[in-house]
Amino acid sequence: MTAKLIDGSKVALGIREECKTRVEALVARGIVPGLAVIVVGNDPASAVYVRNKLRACANVGVRSFKYDYSADVAPDVVVAKIKELNGRADVHGILVQLPLPPQFQLAQVLNTISAEKDVDGFHLYNVGGLVVGDTVFPPCTPYGVVKLLDYEGISVEGKNVVVVGASNIVGKPMALMLMQREATVCICHAKTRDLAQFTILADILVVAAGKPNLIVPQMVKTGAVVIDVGINRLPDGRLVGDVDFEGVSEKASRITPVPGGVGPMTVTMLLVNTIASAERRLSDRA
Ligand code: NAP
Repeated sequence: MTAKLIDGSKVALGIREECKTRVEALVARGIVPGLAVIVVGNDPASAVYVRNKLRACANVGVRSFKYDYSADVAPDVVVAKIKELNGRADVHGILVQLPLPPQFQLAQVLNTISAEKDVDGFHLYNVGGLVVGDTVFPPCTPYGVVKLLDYEGISVEGKNVVVVGASNIVGKPMALMLMQREATVCICHAKTRDLAQFTILADILVVAAGKPNLIVPQMVKTGAVVIDVGINRLPDGRLVGDVDFEGVSEKASRITPVPGGVGPMTVTMLLVNTIASAERRLSDRA
């Protein structure tokens, strides 16, 4: 079997066109959706991610506001800025680029963002909403995966789904969102013994571990759908996922590439959440 490619860049482009139309409708009613991005320190990977996010905003007509702080800034200064942004009518989404330097308590920062503007979906209120199936903002990466599956017409109901990786921002919300859609979900992590005995059962395998070549063909069921969330920079400069793409492509029915799979969807869902927030503001006003 040779897997069909799931083209995240193409799907993302289509959703961004829908975003433009939604933004135009908002602007016609006097609201320009606005995203505030807070960056602390000079992490080069963060700089690339933030640049992509700001470019994506400009591309669909979302206004962005960027606030840069030095790596040694006092957490209170950033918390005060978030509080100010919570009250601003021209800001519909607030994002704090992670990771933060060690002097920060992550939970304190994330929970200062108003749940109504928490477009990354990391506030406890939104996380709790995810558990009961009623979140305000689904976190962008798993939201993007769910949208990719939708666009590909891949139903998850009743399927065996294995999620490799159990982080708060990808693996756990991913598992919850797929469980909500009535998949049978198994979550694996670094302490899982004999990972292959779980992955081999997956009709849909979602991998978000940050380990190149973690998933090799003998760990994958013939005909499985494989979603590779991982992004790893190899010493030779190449960008790869967590899955042995060439090998697993021979076994899977569909597979996402890296780059060009989940990555473009993540940024796109940030736009979708920001626009949805502005639309809610409009309906509150009506
Ligand atoms: P993370 O916070 O480091 O979490 C990694 C998770 O994978 C942890 O739960 C860890 O288990 C688990 N893990 C590590 N090694 C494993 C192994 N050998 N077998 C099974 N599980 C293992 O990373 P993250 O933020 O979730 O990101 C994961 C990957 O996705 C990274 O490559 C990241 O760059 C990428 N990512 C991509 C996007 C995108 O848009 N495409 C967005 C976000 C992240 P423990 O919990 O036991 O430590």
